[in-house]
Amino acid sequence: PIPAGGDFLGHPKGVYVCFFTEMWERFSFYGMKALLLLYLTKYHLFGDGPGLDLLGAYGGLVYCIPVIGGVLADRWLGMRKAVVFGGILLCLGHLGMAFEGHAAVNVGGQVVRDEGALRITYLSLALIIMGVGFLKPNISTIVGKLYADNDPRRDSGFSLFYAGINLGALFASLVCGFLGEVYGWKYGFGAAGIGMLVGLGMFLWGQKYLHGHAEPSAPHTLRERVAGVPREWLIYALAIAGVLPVAWLMWAAGSGAFALGGEVSLALMLMIVVLGVVLLWFAWFTGTRCPPVQRQQMIALMVLIFMALVFFTLYEQTYGSWVTFTDRMLTKDVAPSLVITGGTPLPWSIASLLLAPLSFVVAARMSDRDAASNAPRTLFIAVVALMLVLLVRDCVVLPQTAGSLTYLGALFLVLLAPIFAALWAWLDRRGLDPSKPVKSAWGLVFAGLSFIPLAWAAQQVGMTGQMASVWWLVLAYLVLEIGEMCLSPVGLSAVTQLAVPRVVSLMMGTWFLATAFSETLAALFGKLAAIDVPEGEVMDIAAASAKYAHLFWLMMWIGLGCAVVAFIAAPLLRRMMHGVK
Ligand code: GLN
Repeated sequence: PIPAGGDFLGHPKGVYVCFFTEMWERFSFYGMKALLLLYLTKYHLFGDGPGLDLLGAYGGLVYCIPVIGGVLADRWLGMRKAVVFGGILLCLGHLGMAFEGHAAVNVGGQVVRDEGALRITYLSLALIIMGVGFLKPNISTIVGKLYADNDPRRDSGFSLFYAGINLGALFASLVCGFLGEVYGWKYGFGAAGIGMLVGLGMFLWGQKYLHGHAEPSAPHTLRERVAGVPREWLIYALAIAGVLPVAWLMWAAGSGAFALGGEVSLALMLMIVVLGVVLLWFAWFTGTRCPPVQRQQMIALMVLIFMALVFFTLYEQTYGSWVTFTDRMLTKDVAPSLVITGGTPLPWSIASLLLAPLSFVVAARMSDRDAASNAPRTLFIAVVALMLVLLVRDCVVLPQTAGSLTYLGALFLVLLAPIFAALWAWLDRRGLDPSKPVKSAWGLVFAGLSFIPLAWAAQQVGMTGQMASVWWLVLAYLVLEIGEMCLSPVGLSAVTQLAVPRVVSLMMGTWFLATAFSETLAALFGKLAAIDVPEGEVMDIAAASAKYAHLFWLMMWIGLGCAVVAFIAAPLLRRMMHGVK
């Protein structure tokens, strides 16, 4: 049933609370991520190898712990309490990152680091991992709880929630990246921390709009004493105690200790164990605890999660091979516009970020049936206005480094989200809304297609020996983000519908666990285009571009190949969903 208390602009008020909380949480998450590797290598003088190992272990664990946060919320805590607890850990973690200590110095080839400060860094990272584990799956589940079963607005609602995620991400790389690199690390990390404080404050204020939809399923079990302590406090205490071993895992990854064959970190091994346990649990649970209809729905959901795993394996290339390719083989040839704004991208960025929520509000109206008549025109005007501002800003920011161009993903997402939210609602009104498996299959198609412009660019570089245009990258991002819009918000929405209610947060955690794996797989594939140029030699452009072209075509075939299988399986999956739309 729809919660009492009414809607705002066509969606339950609680969705806006989740939107803004998650926007700030992602702001802190991506702001910190943008700085982490640079901070380790430039300030604490880590080598690229150990720095990347630490980043990989962090990225893996941060998407792995949500399974545990999800289980605890399903069984005892309820989602609201889990989000608040996670939010507190996140604030502590991000603010801890702002403590930078002394810079490392290189004394005659011997690097002397501020080990105390590094220990605080590891501890802070562990707090963030644990905090995300409690917050991320559960805030996503809450959005689903706010809609009635088969409410046609659900996919639109998740599209808008997803816009919040990416608005935070976009803002983050601009603000935290800028502050951290220009004014000093602690300002960048500190800004991330303040963002998270705002997010937590937002949630604490807005939790009344969740109308009891995120409460513990059996509150009395929280008060029961286990080993003399109320269970609720025991959970918090154990989670805080768990921060220490996670911090130790961070240290192990950064120092290369206990790595299997020098390659596979302990964190990765842990991830494999978690995956194994989840799969075993899934087989047992669906085999013995679910009536046939629910069993089929759960299996259909697992297939959708697998599709997300494939999608994010392709997607994560954006942070790996796409960056190195842009750096080495694409011109950043749109520099003239920089002159117009005196070289600073910030005013334009802030203007566009202020405008983006406007399109969110208009799109929210769009999916409100009563407002349908006037909405298309308003939506059109808002989107065009937004695009113009963003495009100008785009040209301004483009001449930056290869790494900073990763913001293009979030940028297109924010642009596309209102359009997709409206598109799903529009298709639904005409009875043409594609099923979720079909939408996800389209996601894989676009992910695959996005590699074509880059493969062409690589081949062009190979033939001419000249750099190719950066606009190939812009095109690739646009296509990829259309795919993300078809698959990712839709998948979150599917989790909240298809999972048996008492394990919905656990299944949400499993959705993110798939991403943890994608990150690892993406790194493995990315190594196909690893280019090592020995000191003092020049890169063999022809050979290097051939490697990139090979990787990009391979990714395209994987995307399209899996999409074909997904389209073939879609009718069967739809039947297994038993009427869930
Ligand atoms: N970019 C999204 C987020 O941060 C996607 C995460 C995922 O599922 N891989 O929430």
